[in-house]
Amino acid sequence: MLNNDKKIWLSSPHMGGSELKYIQQAFDENWIAPLGPNVHGFEQDLEDFLQSDCHVAVLSSGTAALHLALIMMGVEKGDYVVCQSLTFSASANPIIYTGAIPLFVDSERETWNLCPVAVEEAIEFGISQGKKPKAIIAVSLYGMPYKVEEIRAISKKYDIPIIEDSAESLGSAYKDQKCGTFGDMAVISFNGNKIITTSGGGALITKDIAFKKKAVFLSTQAKDDAPHYEHTHIGYNYRMSNVCAGIGRGQMEVLEDRIAKRRANHRFYVDIFSELPEIEVHTEPHSDYFSNHWLTAICLKPNSKVSTETIRMNFLEQNIETRPIWKPMHLQPVFRDLPYFGGKVAQELFEQGLCLPSGSNLTEEDRAEIGKVIHKLFQIS
Ligand SMILES: *Cc1c(COP(=O)(O)O)cnc(C)c1O
Repeated sequence: MLNNDKKIWLSSPHMGGSELKYIQQAFDENWIAPLGPNVHGFEQDLEDFLQSDCHVAVLSSGTAALHLALIMMGVEKGDYVVCQSLTFSASANPIIYTGAIPLFVDSERETWNLCPVAVEEAIEFGISQGKKPKAIIAVSLYGMPYKVEEIRAISKKYDIPIIEDSAESLGSAYKDQKCGTFGDMAVISFNGNKIITTSGGGALITKDIAFKKKAVFLSTQAKDDAPHYEHTHIGYNYRMSNVCAGIGRGQMEVLEDRIAKRRANHRFYVDIFSELPEIEVHTEPHSDYFSNHWLTAICLKPNSKVSTETIRMNFLEQNIETRPIWKPMHLQPVFRDLPYFGGKVAQELFEQGLCLPSGSNLTEEDRAEIGKVIHKLFQIS
């Protein structure tokens, strides 16, 4: 390491200032439990932000929210679920929790999300096996909305519901409608590295109040209405803590600012790489798309003289964190034997892509350090 005592992170927590006020209230009123005023307040804040008549249940993680979404859609052992391959493993793991089988699908080049052609191939495969897939998990990777209209058309054609994995895309929109409000259900994540955080947490979004009620019921151990503990369903301990929800309420006060800051980081990278035709900064295909640019990612064209690994190592020498694109699920040892549909887009993005420091707390100084590395490496002035 050089004389940099400070590390520049890919994406680190960025508190707004009011979080402790809400946590203090929780302590003052002794709501130190997975229920209380912050839980309801945070849900209300999210519903106001998302609009489109959404109901939100806050949970212990985005992964838990996906698990409950699959359960509520009736996904069971042996069922097929279509899932984007180019994503974080938490998009796919809950499919395995239910005993169902993921059908992994390639990405398209524009949004890096579900390729509509490959989605249809996966569905047709399921039908040919006598098992129409029970759900489609559509991710908005790095904040970029997926091809909402194309995927919805397929969902409608085959009558298969969509679960939007909007873990990375809170605040993103397509045609001015927020990500997380297009699917039959959606999930968001408040993990420490996401655009806002509750230290760890997630939410389930649904248009149907009955699903919200069921999510709350299942996430609090499925206790039936009786003076003793009576159970007719298998329950889960997935509800969000009132202390964590306090962090969330504070974070909601600064969400718009965080989106603006991440988008400004993206513009910084677009500017700096504009002189380098061998590097493509992942950007909205056109103005219908609005990404929160949770992470800014680049993709090297085949004519690039440097590799992503060289770029990563050059940043690391200056104590700056970057990270390869998610390794596709169909290439992961743990999912090796599962079906895959599509070509090599996801694999190429993994091999040629890199995520750059994108936190809303990056300073001018940090950006100058990042710029220096890029200028030196590519010999631009
Ligand atoms: C973070 C993330 C999740 C999981 O959310 P957690 O809150 O960490 O459980 C799921 N899918 C994607 C795409 C993510 O980035």
